[in-house]
Amino acid sequence: MSSIPAFFDERQLAHEPLQELHNGGWTPYAETPSRARMIASEFAGLRPARDFGLEPLLGVHDPGYVEFLRSAFIEWRASGRDGDAIGYTWPVVRRRKLDLDRIDAKLGQYSYDAATPIAEGTWEACYWSAQTALTALSAILDGNTRTSFALCRPPGHHAGRDYCGGYCYLNNAAIAAERARHSGRRVAILDIDYHHGNGTQDIFYEDPDVLFVSIHAEPATDYPFFWGHKEERGEGPGDGTTLNLPLPRGTEIHEYGAALDQALIAIAAHQADLLVVSFGADTFVDDPISNFRLRQEDYCVIASRIAALNLPILVVMEGGYAVDALGHNVEAFLSGFYEVPA
Ligand SMILES: [Zn+2]
Repeated sequence: MSSIPAFFDERQLAHEPLQELHNGGWTPYAETPSRARMIASEFAGLRPARDFGLEPLLGVHDPGYVEFLRSAFIEWRASGRDGDAIGYTWPVVRRRKLDLDRIDAKLGQYSYDAATPIAEGTWEACYWSAQTALTALSAILDGNTRTSFALCRPPGHHAGRDYCGGYCYLNNAAIAAERARHSGRRVAILDIDYHHGNGTQDIFYEDPDVLFVSIHAEPATDYPFFWGHKEERGEGPGDGTTLNLPLPRGTEIHEYGAALDQALIAIAAHQADLLVVSFGADTFVDDPISNFRLRQEDYCVIASRIAALNLPILVVMEGGYAVDALGHNVEAFLSGFYEVPA
């Protein structure tokens, strides 16, 4: 059982799409409410989310996009369709900025893949997932703890300023990071999900103040393919404040640890005074959609090395699809922070 304060809201379970397009066919949606239930079962005293309203969400996300998330399912049903709202056309290049009304056009405008359908409870769930991240952050900013865990679900790190993708709708880690920055903190984000956190990278890509470091599967072979390559370093005033450390399929803790060392050196050099960790347990050896080979005991080692930075740390839940092992993997990770003095 964890001694780190952990935050969760039951309304995050409202999001339950039926299926996704995967490997050329419709398969059951992998980002299920049972993921969050398995993690929640590890905690005796989960604390509820407070409601910080829309304002901190709009600190990161485009207002038109947020309105789209709120209304897409209603518009989809009003247009006579069953099932979940999902796009079928994505205007990638040379598109004009058009303000179109038809729901199918909006689904194309505000998403980049077919892994992110909008179901009846999607808005409620992603709203409360973001509030959970903000509540866990406030426990740190208020001085009540140095480490806290936001059991966010849906996850967030693939969502950008005005798009959803990869099971993500609102970028919980980015929303918390932006809030922390507004509270005067110097923030670094360490993303250790199996997949590159392209949404988070995009949000802070030209930002010199927020460091984004990601250890993830080589995007030449793995989702999200178009982002996360090691030559992506940030742009303009943000040049040098993005660090991508892609690793090949089959990576075990030894090679992973070497990348982690590089990441931690960069975070220390940024002189961050608050670290947001986007934690995905889909680096686990038995994860059904991923291909690293980390084991349960490795998560404690990784966390204790992060903890050695001796920073206030907000852990935000991202992916992890080996549902039966998920709770224990999260618990193993958080156990690496126990020894840090308050
Ligand atoms: Zn992932």
